[in-house]
Order: sequence, then C-alpha cells, then structure tokens
Amino acid sequence: AYIKVIEEKNKDINAFLEVNKEEAIAKAEEIDLKIKNGEEVGALAGLVFGIKANINVEDFIISAASKTLEDYIGSYDATVVKKIKSEDGIIIGINNMDEFAAGSSTETSYYGAVNNPAAPGRIPGGSSGGSAAAVSAEMCDIAIGSDTGGSIRNPSSHCGVLGMKPSYGAVSRQGLLDLSMSLDQIGPMARDITGITLALDTIIGYDPTECTTLKWDAPNFTEIAESIKGRKKPLEGMKIATCREFREVTNDEINEIIDKSVEKLEELGAELVELSFNHIDICLPTYYLINYVEFFSATRKYDGRKYGSRIEEVCGEEVLRRIQIGSYISQKEFSGKYYQKALQARSLIRNEINKMLKDVDLIVGPTVPKLPHSLGEKLEPMEMYAYDVLTVIANLAGIPAASVKAGDVEGIPVGLQLQAKPQDDGKIVKAMAAFE
Ligand code: GLN
Repeated sequence: AYIKVIEEKNKDINAFLEVNKEEAIAKAEEIDLKIKNGEEVGALAGLVFGIKANINVEDFIISAASKTLEDYIGSYDATVVKKIKSEDGIIIGINNMDEFAAGSSTETSYYGAVNNPAAPGRIPGGSSGGSAAAVSAEMCDIAIGSDTGGSIRNPSSHCGVLGMKPSYGAVSRQGLLDLSMSLDQIGPMARDITGITLALDTIIGYDPTECTTLKWDAPNFTEIAESIKGRKKPLEGMKIATCREFREVTNDEINEIIDKSVEKLEELGAELVELSFNHIDICLPTYYLINYVEFFSATRKYDGRKYGSRIEEVCGEEVLRRIQIGSYISQKEFSGKYYQKALQARSLIRNEINKMLKDVDLIVGPTVPKLPHSLGEKLEPMEMYAYDVLTVIANLAGIPAASVKAGDVEGIPVGLQLQAKPQDDGKIVKAMAAFE
C-alpha cells in the first residue's frame, strides 16, 4: 500500500530519494508467513520505515543529499538500522534532506526541494524534511531522522506530525554522518504516539561501539503511553512551565494556538507556571559557532580520496559557508576567542535550562517561531537561522524534546514543543500521549 502511495505522490513531494520496492515486499511477505505459521515476530513487525539519507543502510545510496556522496553506497547498517531490522521493521527507502543536514527547509538538497504535503507549495521544514513529508503523506509509518538543532522537531511541526529528539546519548549515533557531533541525536517521527514509542523502545540503548551513548535503564515508552489511555486527567501531578521569552520571539498567530494547547494541558490535569529564560539572545550565535567548527572537522574526511568528491568542489552554498567559517574560527590564533567562548555560552544556556527544569517537569512552547515560507522564496542565512531559535536550546543542553501538532493557521500546521530534563524522555512521551 505504501509503495502505491509513493509511486503516486513522490514525483510531486520528493520525500524519497530511493525506494527498494522488491526487498520491502519480500520482507513484508516473509513476516506475513511467519505470522501465519504462528512464529514469533519482532515488535516492529509490518511497520514501514523511511531512513534519512545521512544514516547508513547497507546497499542504499547514503548521499546526505550532497553531490559529494552521490555515489556512496552504505556498506553497513547503522546501529539504529540494525535494531529496526532485528525487530522486523521494513525499511522501504531513503528520505530527502538538507545537504549534510545543514538547513531548516530541505531546499539545499542536491536532489531538489521537498513539497510540504500538509501545506502544498511551502517548505516542509528541515533538515529532515523528506522524513516528515513521507510520514505526513502516508508513504511510511515511521521515519528516522537526525536532530542537531531542531531537524526532527522543525519539520514535524511544519508537516503536522509527531517527532522526538531523545536525550543526548540515548540513541547510538554509530553510522550517522555527523553534522555536529556534540549536538547530533537520532530520533523518530510518526503520525501517532504509538509509532514514536515503538521506535524509541527499539532504538534507545547503550552501544559499546559508540562512546557517547548512555548506560541507561530506559523505561518502556509504549507502556507509559498505554498506561494513561482513557484517563481523564492523565497529567495530574505534572508541573508544566511556559516561558515569556519564547513567546516574545514568536509570531502572534502561532502564540494563539500555543495558548490554546497550554489550556488543554491544564484541562488534562497539569499545573501551569510561567518561567523566564534569560539567554534566548545568545542561543543562535552559540549554536552556529559550535556547529561550524564541528562540521568543518567532520567534513575533513571528504577530501576526494576515500569517499566521493572533494566536498569544497561540489557542495552547495550553505555547506561551503559553514566549512569556510568553521575553518577560519578554529585557527590557532583565534584559540579562546570564538569556539571556547561558544562553549562557555553553552554552559550558561545548559545551566539555566536545567535550573528551570529543577522546579518543573516540562517546559512547553512553540516548536518554530514562524510559519514555513513558500517554496522558491529566497531567504537570507540569518532569516533561515531564525527558524531554529527555539529548537537549538535542547541540543545545546542535551535534553530531550519533542514536537506534537497543536493546531493550524489556515491549514498550515503548528507544533507544540515539549522539553524535559536529561533522561526524563518518559515525561515527554506521557504528555504527548495525553495531548494527541
Ligand atoms: N537548522 C539547523 C542547522 O542548520 C539544524 C539542523 C539540524 O538539526 N540538522 O544547523
């Protein structure tokens, strides 16, 4: 059924870069047979996945939507992909994205922009825009994306689906082509909470081959979501904060929808408080300085010898900007001036957000401060970066964060963002399940 939808709609939406029809059908038939024979099947049996083009899947082209890697074929499965396959998830294909995940609109893909199925003619957000569009257009059940500064939550918000960036270290990044390794995190996108929790239960966990993964006894997220079903006040006992400064940077029409969502959370039993976050002004400069330096470092392997072409010779404008600025500011003579400063600023942001989260269970607000622009509209870099102001905080602090559909402005979806303490991913899941 999904292949039919892809064949029908992908020309217009451009969410998938590659689909393996035969293998997906063969796998589905194999699972079917197992079920018919009464054999045991995995937790994801029959669920269909799209994987972002920066996560290695054996035998697919893993280009990160860049000309640099247009001929690079995944020679192994990333840890998350291994886990999905071992639970009988079906990998149907590879999703379009911003080149090397550096963007918020999916317009920088070497393979062309993605059309937003929920708001045709507009960007789907990014950088996991192909993933969100594929889920929204019902081309698959679940998409696995990466989030460095919002790339799962931003397109989820614009396409009206659910998306979650787990705590830093909760999911192995082994096999992910990094954008910025201290910020990157892999996570799921789906149309309902069950899709999110089944994926989380599969992909979260310590990975001995990835030194930043947490040794963490994670809860069963599907059970958390199931446990509140049918309850009238499922959020009773939860303290949820809104934040003045998030409101100030956000468009009025979005704020109106968020206000209604907050009322709904209260009706669901949550206690509401208002808090203040004083470092909103330094979030974007801090994020981009760190991103540029780490990305510059990550791209040194694309020198044209082992993998594909020399990146500087074939990449797009935004990727080149990051490489050049990253190379400039990480020069020895600037030691202590930019990157070190950014790390200090990052500590301030992390400390403040963690302090806020000492008193409350969740912080909520808009996921993205403005509506997605029309395809083809040319934005200046700073205008593009402005989409990220509310999402980069979670990556800088390493905390879990998710986006759930809050409503729409004349049909254009708007997402509510939920953030919690590191390893309080379960609280986010609970609130998402209640809110959905
Ligand atoms: N838009 C942000 C950036 O361009 C975030 C990207 C991401 O999360 N991969 O860096």
